[in-house]
Amino acid sequence: MKHESSVKLTFLGAAGTVTGSRSLLQVNKKKYLIDCGLFQGPKEIRIKNWDEFPHAKEIECVFLTHAHIDHSGYLPKLVREGFRGKIYCSQATADLLQIMLLDSAHLQEEDARFANREKYSEHDPALPLYDAKDAESALKLLTPLKSDEWVSIDENVSVKLTRSGHILGSRFVQLHWDDGNGGKTITFSGDLGNGHSNIIKGPVSLTETDYLVMESTYGDRVQPHVDIMGALENIIQRVWKREGTLVIPAFSVGRTQEIIYFIRQLEVENRIPQNIPVWVDSPMALDATEIYMRHREELKSVFREGEVQPPLCPSHYKAVSSADESMLLCMSDEPGIVISAAGMLTGGRILHHLKARLPYEKNAVLFVGYQVEGTKGRLLKQGLTKIRIHHKMIDVEAEVLAIESLSAHADSDNILDWCRHFEKVPKKIFLNHGEPSGLGALSYRLRTELDWQNTIIAEEGVEYDLDQ
Ligand SMILES: [Zn+2]
Repeated sequence: MKHESSVKLTFLGAAGTVTGSRSLLQVNKKKYLIDCGLFQGPKEIRIKNWDEFPHAKEIECVFLTHAHIDHSGYLPKLVREGFRGKIYCSQATADLLQIMLLDSAHLQEEDARFANREKYSEHDPALPLYDAKDAESALKLLTPLKSDEWVSIDENVSVKLTRSGHILGSRFVQLHWDDGNGGKTITFSGDLGNGHSNIIKGPVSLTETDYLVMESTYGDRVQPHVDIMGALENIIQRVWKREGTLVIPAFSVGRTQEIIYFIRQLEVENRIPQNIPVWVDSPMALDATEIYMRHREELKSVFREGEVQPPLCPSHYKAVSSADESMLLCMSDEPGIVISAAGMLTGGRILHHLKARLPYEKNAVLFVGYQVEGTKGRLLKQGLTKIRIHHKMIDVEAEVLAIESLSAHADSDNILDWCRHFEKVPKKIFLNHGEPSGLGALSYRLRTELDWQNTIIAEEGVEYDLDQ
């Protein structure tokens, strides 16, 4: 006898855009949320974070693909709105969230304080979206799960987490339910890694799924193969010879560790001098690096051989923790490499370093990550000759450089290669987490190259039926 099952999928974010990942799966009226991200970017997108979440109290549990804030940063708000279920993720994701959610809360509180000081908010007083207490409450709900095995969650669903190779701890989330006919599986790709990371292991190939929710960030791009080590070697050599400082703005989780790894490799291969000081001036990056080193099982095998010099620790590595140390470093004229956050110059200690170093020709700034339109990072990268930092106009005399193709995302070719491993064409493929051009291009390629005709570009708020 075929028993009734009703399964519906709704995208509450990351539909036609790359942030605010939140997918709602309803299995026999029970509600499950896959990812719980913050909307980021321009104000008209960020403002959506303030909308009331429609089902906070009714959500049974949340499954997370990874720790990035556009996939996890809405959790404290969900808890504030009454969610009390478990939040399932990998152990490394849970560890990273301990620092990332508190940092996010801190930024929300800072925004509110700034709005009150400048009196630009329509609300008086301006309140943060959430605070550290909400973040602490969300952290208490984290429930790490083992990977690569099915775990029963309740009478409706089982879950399996599998490595997706995007950042430390990132996972594909597969959910299985009984439909009275052998059951069905849906796979959420989260952000798909490209296998090019030097630190973490690449994505696992999956062979079976009935439904697939696929990210499309670089759906319209094929990343050029650039000799990153060679480019970095040239830049470091050049700046070191003229006794300048190389300032690298970098995201604390993922990018900073990749850069440190490259610098260490250049040292090992004697391509740069061993005595160049490398300051990492970002408490969050230092904590994240420590978490990376704790999760050896996630790292490529080179990290397991007990080397004398750990691969994430150049010879003259200097961790800068306190604000006082950071200020002293800004005032010092000692040549070297400074890695600091925020990666897109949206705030943080990096701004102090740039204020001090940009007016001198001997210094250089190196961008290693995507710079969103409208950020100071984008303006500087595009060649602005004067930039306003902390209410002061700063002359840009330093060299401004960029190394592209250091992304942690799969490009269009990588996505197709990963999709080719499925033995049967999924019944429905939903494309999310992309700008319109990426979504359109990926949809075209999946239809024409893999003959995946049931490819659907996810629309926010539409309820998709998974019964037929
Ligand atoms: Zn991500």
